[in-house]
Amino acid sequence: MFKLTGKNAVVTGGGSGIGRAIAQTFARQGAHVIILDADAEAGSRTAAEIQSAGGSAAAHACDVTSQEAVKALFEKLVAGRGQLHILVNNAGIAHVGNVLNTSGADFDRVMAVNVKGVYHCIQACASHMAQSGGGAIVNIASTVSVMAIHDRFAYSTSKGAVLAMTYSVAKDLLKHNVRCNAILPGRIHTPFVDGFIAKNYPGREAEMFKKLSDYQPVGRMGEPDEVAAVALFLCSDEASFITGSHYPVDGGTLHIR
Ligand code: NAP
Repeated sequence: MFKLTGKNAVVTGGGSGIGRAIAQTFARQGAHVIILDADAEAGSRTAAEIQSAGGSAAAHACDVTSQEAVKALFEKLVAGRGQLHILVNNAGIAHVGNVLNTSGADFDRVMAVNVKGVYHCIQACASHMAQSGGGAIVNIASTVSVMAIHDRFAYSTSKGAVLAMTYSVAKDLLKHNVRCNAILPGRIHTPFVDGFIAKNYPGREAEMFKKLSDYQPVGRMGEPDEVAAVALFLCSDEASFITGSHYPVDGGTLHIR
C-alpha cells in the first residue's frame, strides 16, 4: 500500500522542514520528486539527500509568488517528465502580529506566498493533470485555518484562505479526476518554528520552545515525518475516495484541548 512508483510529485518548499520530509517520504515510496524552493541551495540539498539514499529527485529554484515564473517552470516540467501526478503546496512563511499592528506590506507579503503561491501552482499544474487523466493535490494549511491563536492575524487569514481554496478546487476539478485535500498541522518542529522564536522572542528561546511544546495536548511539537505520512496517504491511490477534506495533524490541539 501507499506506493508512488512511476509518479512524478512536485513539492514546493521541499528544501526545509515539512516539505523536506514529504519529499523524502514520497521518494522512498517510489516517486520521482521535483522540489521547488525559493532557497535553491536548500532544495538542491534535499534532492541530493534523496539521490544518495537511492531515490529519484530534482530541484529547481522557484519563487511561488511569481505567476509567470511558476507557469514557465511547470511547462518545462511537463515537457521533461510527460505527466505530473502529485502537487504538494507546502511553501509558506510565518508572521507574528495582530490586526492592530500588522502593516499592509507584511499582510501583502504573507498573502503573496501563502495564498497566491498556492493559486499559482495549482493553476499551472492542474490543467496538465486534467489533460492527462487526473492527479492529487495536497495543500498544507494549518490548525489556525479553523481556530484562533494570539498574534497570527495575517498568517491565520492566509491559512483560512488555503482551506477555502482547497474546497473550491476540489469541487471544480472533480470532473477532471483531480483530488484536492488539505492538511492542518499543529505546531511542528521545523526551522520555520525555530526561526520565528529566534526573531520574535530573542533571549527567551528555551522558555518559548517549552511553552509552544506544552500547548499541544500530547505535550510536544509534531515531527515533519508525522505530517509527511498523512501527505503520503492523501496522495496515494488508497485515498481515491477522498477529496475536499482536511486532516488535522495536531497532537489533539483542535478537538481535545
Ligand atoms: P520551513 O522550514 O520554513 O520551510 C519552508 C520552505 O519554503 C523553505 O525552504 C522556504 O525557503 C520555502 N519558501 C518560502 N517562501 C517561498 C516562496 N515564495 N517560494 C518558494 N519557496 C518558498 O517551514 P515548515 O515549518 O516546514 O512549514 C511548511 C508549511 O507548513 C508552511 O506552509 C507552513 O505555513 C505550514 N505549517 C507549519 C507549521 C509548523 O509548526 N512548522 C504548522 C502549520 C503549518 P526560505 O527558507 O528561503 O524562506
